[in-house]
Amino acid sequence: MDCDIEKIFDPYDTRPLKIVSRALEKGRIAHAYLITGPDAAATSLTASAVARLLLCSNVSKTRNGLRPCNQCIACKKVLSSVHPDLLQVEPSGATIKIDQIKDIQRHMAFPPLEGNRRMAVINQAESMGLHAANALLKTLEEPPGYGHLILAALNPKAILQTIVSRCQHLHLGPMPEKAISSSLVKIGIDHPYLLHLSEGSIARAGYLVASDTLKLRDLFIAYLQEKECWEAMLMKLAQRASQDQESFKLLIHIIASVIHDVIILSAIRPDNSDGIDDYLYCPDKKEDMANLALNFDMELLEEYADHVMEMEVHLSRNANKLLMALSLLLFWKNKKFGTLFPYGK
Ligand SMILES: [Zn+2]
Repeated sequence: MDCDIEKIFDPYDTRPLKIVSRALEKGRIAHAYLITGPDAAATSLTASAVARLLLCSNVSKTRNGLRPCNQCIACKKVLSSVHPDLLQVEPSGATIKIDQIKDIQRHMAFPPLEGNRRMAVINQAESMGLHAANALLKTLEEPPGYGHLILAALNPKAILQTIVSRCQHLHLGPMPEKAISSSLVKIGIDHPYLLHLSEGSIARAGYLVASDTLKLRDLFIAYLQEKECWEAMLMKLAQRASQDQESFKLLIHIIASVIHDVIILSAIRPDNSDGIDDYLYCPDKKEDMANLALNFDMELLEEYADHVMEMEVHLSRNANKLLMALSLLLFWKNKKFGTLFPYGK
């Protein structure tokens, strides 16, 4: 998504920076930090913000903690990526290579040139291969007194646990809804459904927009309601979902969100539904959902929800995506109309 995250996200206003700021005041900066969160751009910005705070020669104290001045020579050099005591690394191609870790080791071997710290930031740290991770482990085991490493990653479980255990882990958490909303506004598609499905990640919101998620959702809802000519819709949805892992997950999330809303609308009496919109994924489709709710009992909806979750497990085992998508989509038709293969039997 075309979005300037730096304009809407202030890393100094986050929990990780507040923790580092307090540590800096007490003179207890850790030798390694791991910053995680669901948004890659936000975790990278936060990692750079830590580096800038630790290198600034004129930090100022604010109500929210310490901030770099952005004016001193060190800040200016960090901002223009030319500070000799800071090395920033990100994947070269799909992974972070062992040579890049060796660069970090060489960088860390020298004492600081300009301040009193020597630092390296590793973005998308989960993309380190095993050799690279093992090499980094050595640096983490014997850090020089002046050296600090900052790793940024989406998922700590994807990083060698011996690395995680040597870092102070700071979780950034999801991006605030207003940050995601304003990035969606910038491209003219501010829709609550996309906000709900974005899982606190601007990158994910961008993926949802690029994947025509709203159209897919509407097609799925139309498919569920159609009693006769639904085969073309079925094939379109199934083929779309079987393109790749992410497309399949998207179908699962769409189905789960619709089941969620139908369950809520089944459980609530129509004359008692004030304020219900706040609890729905698709308040704009409430009428369709209410119609679907009339047709399904709770037991069937729960069975469908279980089936959707099972498919998520199968997906991780690399099962045939087209078959799984067909199974997911036909489940509803089959249960409701008993027409799994209406023309074949
Ligand atoms: Zn400064």
